[in-house]
Amino acid sequence: MKAVVFDQYKTTPSLKEVDKPRPGPGEVLLKVAGAGACHSDIAVFREFDESFGPAQLKPSFILGHESSGWAEELGDGVEGITLGDAFLVYGPMGCGHCRACSRGQDTYCENAATMPHLATGLGRDGGMAEYVSVPVRNLVPLGDADPVAAAPLSDAGLTPYHAIKTSLPALAGGGKSALVIGLGGLGQIAVQILTALTGATVIATDTKQDAMERAAANGAVTVPGGPGQADAIRELTGGKGVDAVFDFVGAGPTIALAMGVVALRGRVTVVGIANGTFEWNFYAVPYEVELTSTYWGTVEELHEVVDLYRAGQITPQVSVYALDDALEAYRALEAGELSGRAVVAP
Ligand code: NAD
Ligand code: ZN
Repeated sequence: MKAVVFDQYKTTPSLKEVDKPRPGPGEVLLKVAGAGACHSDIAVFREFDESFGPAQLKPSFILGHESSGWAEELGDGVEGITLGDAFLVYGPMGCGHCRACSRGQDTYCENAATMPHLATGLGRDGGMAEYVSVPVRNLVPLGDADPVAAAPLSDAGLTPYHAIKTSLPALAGGGKSALVIGLGGLGQIAVQILTALTGATVIATDTKQDAMERAAANGAVTVPGGPGQADAIRELTGGKGVDAVFDFVGAGPTIALAMGVVALRGRVTVVGIANGTFEWNFYAVPYEVELTSTYWGTVEELHEVVDLYRAGQITPQVSVYALDDALEAYRALEAGELSGRAVVAP
């Protein structure tokens, strides 16, 4: 079968012919419907090497950590899955028996350091191929919902959902506000999730005008970058500052913006992995501000994300590419030319 393979550090992946996978015990082979191109993959094949980045992300493996597909073949011991049904893949894969894994939070597996891979598509063969094999525990049923447009929900939906859900205490009550920085694959869905889960005023910013227009169409008030940006954001909150900020870039300047507009007792969640720094001191930020990071989400939360999708409350905005054009999808993502999410549909 054809697959997009990360085969060398700091090198563009290649599209090549590989063996079709066979489902191992407890696994289900999926015929892939869609696989999203996530900005984290750019870090995998452009930035990481032996000395920087998770040790499990060494070449080679098939990319695609947000994917969906139809059940094609069942491995030994798998029951209760109907061939042909559509599923979303929960990518993270922990040990399965520690406290974190037992609450469905494989992302924070206590044995992560000794696991051979982080996730399907991150250390273990992923969905940017004609077929992918995953443990049955990692499948979330899609019912009759479109599996191609659903693919980004596994990461571009789940990651903001987890970040927002853990920030809900800061957004409870009337007159609250949220700020989304970076309106790409994750940020666009974040705007929709905030609208679905909270009554907060959603403020959004990006360096690209078309990204802000998309966010505005989903109900956000947009503020462009440049001088006066922090003042303009603060003004939209009646001067009190933003209750919950979500930074989907994570660079020094975006973290500085987040910390510059956050309200007293507010919360800043850095999701983007641009690895920016922020120098804290007692007087630099309002009292009781929390600055945190989050990584992906739980399998239970992915079921909830699918519920929102099936209820029409969130809709990933996707550009569909053929598998033969997958490298073009990554090129456009890296060049910042995409709007919404690129999904490769074999
Ligand atoms: P993307 O490329 O689709 O979108 C990024 C957006 O940020 C673009 O619209 C871009 O114009 C905008 N942007 C860039 N610099 C900006 C700046 N200085 N100010 C405002 N906007 C700016 O990327 P994505 O796939 O949505 O991923 C976003 C980030 O989240 C990446 O760093 C990715 O690696 C990370 N990520 C983290 C997790 C996690 O679990 N923590 C999971 C998935 C992705
Ligand atoms: Zn575990």
